Amino acid sequence: MIIIDGSEGEGGGQVLRTALTLSMVTGKPFTIENIRARRSKPGLMRQHLACVKAAAAISGASHEGAVIGSGKLIFRPGALKAGNYRFDIGSAGSTTLVLQTIMLALAALDAPSTIVVTGGTHNMAAPCFDFLGESFLPIIRRMGFRIEAECLRRGFYPAGGGEIRMTIGPSEAHVSLVLDTAGRRLGQGAKAIVSHLPYDIARREAAAFADAMGWTAETCVAHSDAAAIGPGNVLTAHLECEHVTEIFTTFGRQGVSGDRIAQELAKEIKDHLSAGAPVGHYLADQLLLPMVLTKGGRFVTSRPSAHCSTNIEVIRSFLNTPIASTRLDDRRWMISVGEQG
Ligand code: ATP
Repeated sequence: MIIIDGSEGEGGGQVLRTALTLSMVTGKPFTIENIRARRSKPGLMRQHLACVKAAAAISGASHEGAVIGSGKLIFRPGALKAGNYRFDIGSAGSTTLVLQTIMLALAALDAPSTIVVTGGTHNMAAPCFDFLGESFLPIIRRMGFRIEAECLRRGFYPAGGGEIRMTIGPSEAHVSLVLDTAGRRLGQGAKAIVSHLPYDIARREAAAFADAMGWTAETCVAHSDAAAIGPGNVLTAHLECEHVTEIFTTFGRQGVSGDRIAQELAKEIKDHLSAGAPVGHYLADQLLLPMVLTKGGRFVTSRPSAHCSTNIEVIRSFLNTPIASTRLDDRRWMISVGEQG
């Protein structure tokens, strides 16, 4: 039985999710203690519980301690089963994090699966649907995964009710990932979206963002989404390059002007561009699992985040695959996974 200390490193939900994925793929049971001990409300929250339940459903696992607030979970995976699954988080918890927990396990099977998850699709501190669909999935498809996702309805905190449908086919021959440079810039733009809020908020955000970045007004658009269940406001921007597309996200908050929201996002993008690394820190921690489960490879990123280092430690609890992090200069690191990384 592998024992994971959930308070190590970043000490958040990702420790649990990475352990669930690796447990299902390797067939190794694990116990995690001190779940999310470094968070203000430690223990399993509804979103994390949804990940445990989804993992148990696809792998016929038995488990103990899967209740809200629990600080300890024992998870014993069984046989993975492809199929059509539907999971409802029951809150605005992140649907993309549930999908990331189970997609790689289902991708290892030789039959297709479809998953529909209901909850939040655009959450703070999680990949929003656009990040999943336009940044993460295209890269892992290059590695041989056959995974597609569609946002059926956006879901914002606190109303939730968003829906993503994902289809997962049997993987093709795995290819190792090499991402040393982003390559030529092919496109750039931003989308300010409001749901059940005045359109003018989105219009002003888009205009302020175009201004802050010096991008043309036509590339920064505003949109009102009447289909989402509750109010929300998200500003996303994309940088599409030859070898990688990065998505940057920020959310409107009460009492914070659209101009300030736009400035925040512009700063994040300028910091990313000045580091000169193709892979941003969010994508960096998320690429580790698909790499370690296939042919590995390498990528250049900015200073590895606590999420990235913690993820590496959790991976080491399950697998012997070498993972190295090498500083290239002041702002760039190379992460390599596997012998040929
Ligand atoms: P908690 O921190 O409450 O335990 P959690 O379960 O949401 O929360 P974390 O351990 O913080 O989990 O992991 C969050 C994940 O979301 C990480 O993989 C991180 O890369 C990703 N993420 C966070 N913000 C963004 C963002 N703006 N764009 C893309 N991915 C993001």
